[in-house]
Amino acid sequence: MQFDVVIIGSGLGGLLCGNILSNEGYNVCIIEKNHKLGGSLQTFGRKGCIFNTGLNYTESLDDGQVLNQYFRYFGLLDKLPLRKLDEDGFDVINFRDGKYKLAMEHDKYRDTLLQYFPKEKNGLTKYLEQIRGICHSISLYTFSEKPFNIFENKALGIGAAEFIRSMISDPRLQNVIAGNNLLYAGHEKKTPLFVHALINNSFIESAWRIADGSHQLVKLLADKITGNGGTILRNAKAEKFIIENDRIKSVVLANGEQVEGNYFICNTHPAQLLSMTDSPKIRNRFSYRISTLEDTIGMFTTYLVFKKNTFPYFNYNFYHYNQDSVWIAGDYDLSKWPQCYGLLPTATSKSDYYAESASLITYMQYSELETWENTFTGNRGEDYIRFKNEKATLLLNALERQFPGITSCVETWYTSTPLTWRDYTGTRSGSAYGILKDYNKPLETMVLPRTKIPNLLLTGQNTNVHGILGVTIGSVVTCGEIIDIQQLMKKIRSA
Ligand SMILES: Cc1cc2nc3c(=O)[nH]c(=O)nc-3n(C[C@H](O)[C@H](O)[C@H](O)COP(=O)(O)OP(=O)(O)OC[C@H]3O[C@@H](n4cnc5c(N)ncnc54)[C@H](O)[C@@H]3O)c2cc1C
Repeated sequence: MQFDVVIIGSGLGGLLCGNILSNEGYNVCIIEKNHKLGGSLQTFGRKGCIFNTGLNYTESLDDGQVLNQYFRYFGLLDKLPLRKLDEDGFDVINFRDGKYKLAMEHDKYRDTLLQYFPKEKNGLTKYLEQIRGICHSISLYTFSEKPFNIFENKALGIGAAEFIRSMISDPRLQNVIAGNNLLYAGHEKKTPLFVHALINNSFIESAWRIADGSHQLVKLLADKITGNGGTILRNAKAEKFIIENDRIKSVVLANGEQVEGNYFICNTHPAQLLSMTDSPKIRNRFSYRISTLEDTIGMFTTYLVFKKNTFPYFNYNFYHYNQDSVWIAGDYDLSKWPQCYGLLPTATSKSDYYAESASLITYMQYSELETWENTFTGNRGEDYIRFKNEKATLLLNALERQFPGITSCVETWYTSTPLTWRDYTGTRSGSAYGILKDYNKPLETMVLPRTKIPNLLLTGQNTNVHGILGVTIGSVVTCGEIIDIQQLMKKIRSA
């Protein structure tokens, strides 16, 4: 099999690159190790409910906003059943002694928070101006013709927590502003302002759920690729590269088949590349820093099935902290687990009044799972099941304290750990968002799509920024190494 571009992995980044390049006439092949496409966008069904795994809500989909324009170009906008979250409070940040709404649109966001923190008008105004300014300095955010160079962005070298503290005096408000940082595994001493600003600003612009599951996004993207003449191979694990003259000639699949290409785009965690070649020359080029980079923490999720018509659907996400600081990812304390959680109800077209299901998410360190490190999903033994049940019970007990009676509405639940993520998506240590960006080391921790192998590129959450918007922008940057990015941007702008 011979293709112009071979893409390893059908996560969002792989599917978007496949769309862009097949739209441009390239003969594209996507190789996916699982039967199901989509990586973190996979859904699963239980008891008649659909569960999203890695897309609970997304951002900036109103007319004129950044993801709206990208989704138009990808032909997704009018085909996805999008549900806008509550404009008066799309996220609710809850502490033991207070609950705060994050509203949509910058003025409303500020004015809503001013009701709780009336003295912070100047700080909030300045904070919002700054995060908007950071986003607007990114050419792929505003669709300007300025070349994209992420390293020119000073916000990569500034700490998000420190920046918020410099703008806002009230410690509680500082934490409220970062209160949805489960979205980026906020690390007080590492998360760059760039990551916080891109995510926070875009969700303040507008926040949305996809009703009935994120697999619809995957199907639309995959259908477009095959419609453009592309090929998608499922159950096809890429295991080894065949190198010729310092370039990749082909990739060998687990079943022994070889897929040849002119270009190879890797949508997996880049650490996988280290095991894909024996050539020391090439290995040294891959491994120069990837093996030393840290990943973000992983997640433990309890997927709740509610008894029919018992628990009201709420059109927002609820984040709870059992301590004052929301910067938990870098200060994980097992003795206080769960220090925080997010309750994210699933939107369905069946009812807007009652929730059918929800995801209950918190952090989990990989070290807690070392006993089962050498097992594979579905075969980890009774002690693993017991471990998960104990963790889910702790999480449900914490939830019950904020929503008295909720556990009596739960018919049953299912769980996933970072090991589940490791086995399904191939991400190192089951990390939620891939390589951890660190403002102390912005150049080392921001991985670019270009590698030292001339025909090998990277895409997905490990390059640029994670999340739907981050990966979308990243896929454009990756494709810009093969096609003219200015021409591509013109098409996206005019979509
Ligand atoms: C719990 C959780 C909740 C999240 N919630 C949100 C949210 O609400 N909003 C949001 O914007 N983002 C969210 N995210 C983040 C978002 O889902 C990810 O950033 C994004 O989907 C990652 O896409 P990716 O392209 O990097 O690929 P991935 O999803 O990592 O997919 C990689 C693909 O490569 C395949 N693969 C790996 N190795 C091989 C191989 N050797 N051969 C062939 N195929 C291979 C995998 O099977 C997989 O399909 C969440 C993430 C997590 C973990």
